[in-house]
Amino acid sequence: MDDIILLKQGEIILKGLNRREFEDKLISNIKRRLQPYGKFKIYSMQSTIYAEPEGACAMDAAFDAAKTVFGVNTIARAVACEKDKDAIIAAAVEYLGDRLESARSFKVESKRADKRFPMSSIELSQYVGGLLHEAFPHLKPDMQTPEIIVNVEIRDLAAYVHGPASTAAGGLPLGTGGRMAALISGGIDSPVAIHMMAKRGVKVIPIHFFSFPYTSELAKQKVLTLAEILGTYCGKLMVEVVPFTHIQEEIARKCPESLSTIITRRFMMRISEKIAVYNGCTALITGENLGQVASQTPEALAVTQQCISLPVLRPVIAFDKKEIVDRAREIGTYETSILPYEDCCTVFTPRRPRTKPRIADVVEAEAALDVAALVDEAVAATSKG
Ligand code: ATP
Ligand code: MG
Repeated sequence: MDDIILLKQGEIILKGLNRREFEDKLISNIKRRLQPYGKFKIYSMQSTIYAEPEGACAMDAAFDAAKTVFGVNTIARAVACEKDKDAIIAAAVEYLGDRLESARSFKVESKRADKRFPMSSIELSQYVGGLLHEAFPHLKPDMQTPEIIVNVEIRDLAAYVHGPASTAAGGLPLGTGGRMAALISGGIDSPVAIHMMAKRGVKVIPIHFFSFPYTSELAKQKVLTLAEILGTYCGKLMVEVVPFTHIQEEIARKCPESLSTIITRRFMMRISEKIAVYNGCTALITGENLGQVASQTPEALAVTQQCISLPVLRPVIAFDKKEIVDRAREIGTYETSILPYEDCCTVFTPRRPRTKPRIADVVEAEAALDVAALVDEAVAATSKG
């Protein structure tokens, strides 16, 4: 039996006048995401997006891909039938028969988006439930904890029958939140931060600082792998790789060791800001987390960003480590993040970093460097990974 994919919009439905814009973006994102799996007719009606296969499509793979599209709250594979109570029963028996056969209890839930349908949703649920019970006598009706829910939706063009809906990615459609540049290390936190912002509709441009030979080709590869994993949700990500060795050596040579981390981080901010502005980005994103390390005290965070004017967004700032790890596992980045390749920040870690750096001291220490020239040199040498 040919089925279709029903995708229920999330927060978009709360939008006012600009809702259409969000919806159009969502539809084009779904089209792009499903393209590798066959030809689909995709359209939207009554807060639901329909993806109907036209010819042979890889439905399992398409369904999994559609689950990762931001802006969709729940998703189900469904079968369409006539808006007639007995056609609905026949569709449920044929489409969900195997699952009803093996379940022990069930419940029918009906929604009537087309108010012209002659039965109320409760009447329809009772009718369908009664006849399904006759067809599968072993099935116990259970309103509280049914093993399977049979969903019936009466919509404009047809009736639809489906099993339980799956949770989808949530959030807002990619591209509706503008563009931002994200500092990505090989760690656990920054990929999670990127995912969170992309989920709010932000198109992300990842930037990685690479200190070859202090950090290895494998460390860079790990970041590219993380970007590829994130690409499942965020659209293809091209990492801007910034050669950082010269700057780190200059800092190590000419600045007090206790301030080297904070000065390093300020260089990351300046360089990222330039790349961000060049790419039309409105903010920077980091995986910084309050109190996690010396450079993430309130004082250090303040000094870190006092050399740039773009806002720095830190979506995981208030998470516990466990919350970040759980999120990383969920999105599939964790196993790659824990591979033991060094990051440029750790290679040059001072023995006693200042946890409460003062801006005046930092500015004074930076006077030993030709900051503008170093920044320009690094930006000019940046390449796409
Ligand atoms: P993560 O797990 O994301 O690496 P972390 O806890 O290791 O974070 P730091 O290494 O202090 O923390 O880095 C804080 C943030 O600075 C990172 O989340 C990331 O946004 C940015 N960052 C650190 N190192 C790099 C790098 N080599 N390239 C780009 N960004 C970096
Ligand atoms: Mg790190």
